[in-house]
Amino acid sequence: MKNPPPTTPYPIGTPGTPWGDAERAAWLARQALRRSHDDEVVVPLRARVPARGELFQYGVLDYARLGLRAYPLLAVRSRDWRADRPTVLVTGGVHGYETSGVQGALQWIASEFDRHAERANLLVLPCLSPWGYETINRWNPDALDPNRQFRADSPAAEAALAMACVATQCASVDLHVDLHETTDTDNSEFGPAKAARDGKPLAWHEIPDGYYLCGDSARPEPDFQRALIDAVRRVTHIADADEHGHLIGTPMAQPGIIYYAQRPLGLCGAMTDARFTTTTEVYPDSPRTTPAECHAAQVVTVTAAIEYLLTGRT
Ligand SMILES: [Zn+2]
Repeated sequence: MKNPPPTTPYPIGTPGTPWGDAERAAWLARQALRRSHDDEVVVPLRARVPARGELFQYGVLDYARLGLRAYPLLAVRSRDWRADRPTVLVTGGVHGYETSGVQGALQWIASEFDRHAERANLLVLPCLSPWGYETINRWNPDALDPNRQFRADSPAAEAALAMACVATQCASVDLHVDLHETTDTDNSEFGPAKAARDGKPLAWHEIPDGYYLCGDSARPEPDFQRALIDAVRRVTHIADADEHGHLIGTPMAQPGIIYYAQRPLGLCGAMTDARFTTTTEVYPDSPRTTPAECHAAQVVTVTAAIEYLLTGRT
C-alpha cells in the first residue's frame, strides 16, 4: 500500500474528541516558519511585473492577535481592463504548502500574462495563504482549511479577502483556474490532523500518482476539462484511477478528472459564477516528475484554459 495511514495517533488531542482552544493553540505552537513569502513571492512579483499588468495589494493578512506577523496579499491584474473582453481569474496558494500552485502562478505571470492580456481581462492572485506558504501548511493559524471557507461571512481571512478582491475587480468571471497539489503529506500529516481536530476517524485515500483535475459538478464542462488534460499530458503524466475506478476516493468521471459539489463544500473553485472552472491537482512527490515539470503543468493548464475559453480548443 502506498502512503499507508499512520500507525500512531496524531500527537494533539484525544482521539474521538474534537479540539478546543487549547488543542488549537498546541497545534499552532508546533508550526514553524520554514521559507520566506517575501523572498519567494513578494520579491519575484515586484521584480517582474508584466508590461500589460499592474501589481496591487488587495489586503493584509493580519494575525497579530496570535502573535504572528502581517502579510501583504498581492495580485496582478490587466492594466487595460475592458468590459467587452472575457475575464479570467487565476488563484494559487489557497493551500500554502502546495508550492507549484504559487510558483506556477508566478511563472505564468512572468511568461504568459502579456500574451493573454491582449485578449482577456486577467486577475491573478498567486498566494492566498502566505502564512501557510511560510509554514508549509494546509491550514491557517486558526487551524481552519481556507479551501473549505469560501462562503458568506467566511471565518478565514484568506478566503474572505480573496472573495472581496474578486468582487471589487470583476463585474463577472468567465473562467477560473485554481492551482493546487495533492501531496504525500496529505496522508502523513494533514489528513490525520483533520481527523484529530474534528474528533472523527481518518478518511484515508491512496494518493494518485500524477496530475488530475477537480471540476465543479454543478458546471462540469467535460470537453473543457478534457482539453486541459490533453494539454498537460504533453508535460507530465496524468493520474490513473485506482482499482475501484476512483481518484482520491471519488469516482473518476473521465480520464484524470473528478467532480465535487464545490460550492456546498466552500471550495475556492466555486467562488465565482464562471461557466468554466477547474482545480488543478499536481503530484510533486512522484518519482516520475520534477519541480520544474510541476510548475510547467500549472502554467500549461492556465494557458490551455484561456485558449479553450477564447477559441473552444487548445
Ligand atoms: Zn490544495
